[in-house]
Amino acid sequence: MAFAGVKEFLQPGSGREAVDLLAKLGDRAVVLGGGTFLHGLAARGVLGEVDTFIDLQKAGFSLVKSERSGLAIGATTTFTELAEAEPVRTSLELGAVRDALQYPPPQIRNMATVGGCVASATPLFDLPVAFMALDGSVKALGPRATRDIGLHKFYLDYFEHVLERTELLTEVLLPKLPSGSASAFLKLETNANDLALLNVAVRVTLDESGTCREVRVVVGGGVGKVPVRAVSCEDVLKGQRPTPALLQESGDVVSLDIHPVDDHRASAKYRTAVAKVYVRRALQRALTRLGASLDGHNGQES
Ligand SMILES: Cc1cc2nc3c(=O)[nH]c(=O)nc-3n(C[C@H](O)[C@H](O)[C@H](O)COP(=O)(O)OP(=O)(O)OC[C@H]3O[C@@H](n4cnc5c(N)ncnc54)[C@H](O)[C@@H]3O)c2cc1C
Repeated sequence: MAFAGVKEFLQPGSGREAVDLLAKLGDRAVVLGGGTFLHGLAARGVLGEVDTFIDLQKAGFSLVKSERSGLAIGATTTFTELAEAEPVRTSLELGAVRDALQYPPPQIRNMATVGGCVASATPLFDLPVAFMALDGSVKALGPRATRDIGLHKFYLDYFEHVLERTELLTEVLLPKLPSGSASAFLKLETNANDLALLNVAVRVTLDESGTCREVRVVVGGGVGKVPVRAVSCEDVLKGQRPTPALLQESGDVVSLDIHPVDDHRASAKYRTAVAKVYVRRALQRALTRLGASLDGHNGQES
């Protein structure tokens, strides 16, 4: 029982103080966001014997801020706070974030933090996949410096990321996208408490003629150790005016980029089949948000 030996619960008043504590206490301490996944990590043997929790609630990282460069989301912002933030409720480009936040149950939405979600390094979580489709990055605060890390370079393996033991994730930054951009997210789950069997996030940028100038497709949830960018799907659409046939083709080629696992929750074959459909539907949903005409087809297709 990883937490039976916990004797101290510390609430540093700043990120600097938290980093100093991490440096001093080493592996004996674990950082706490909402605390909703510590049991999950302990059950998987990821956490060692811990005697101190360092809770970040008072470190000043609870914020959602629109900046010139994009949307800055503080590490201890809860899912509910993020969902209620005006840009997330209204912007087309953040549609994938809005979609992803609808899946976790309310108890989790009220407690789980954006930083804890990203730092858990679990390919089955939803928000990181949405953030990756938006080319999100994280800010890490360490004993000597801060650094920005693109999410595409952040994850290494199941439960492993590039942060040092003495670094904290303080912020997620979603860069401002060109006008004509929209995103969308879809998840396959067995019930409302379930992690993804498969999830897909996309973003599309159309120019004034309706041509696809930029596209991202990211697939997570059992398709590898980390969420996967499906470049083959993107290549089908880039420079083209989207049509139902092209969306179908884009979905179909996802099998070139993903290597789904075969487990008790779903077979690799099933995950591949669903990925093809979900890539197409997520693209349809993003394009519908942009008001794009798809020869009579729309994103509400079942
Ligand atoms: C019943 C249930 C249903 C769920 N359903 C969904 C779902 O539908 N979709 C989904 O995506 N997820 C779901 N989840 C998972 C949920 O997303 C995670 O539990 C949550 O994101 C973890 O965030 P937290 O703030 O509670 O992290 P914590 O549990 O506090 O921490 C998790 C890990 O991150 C580290 N950490 C936390 N904050 C930081 C930081 N700022 N810097 C560095 N490291 C940090 C901790 O040390 C720990 O290792 C569900 C979980 C449960 C229990």
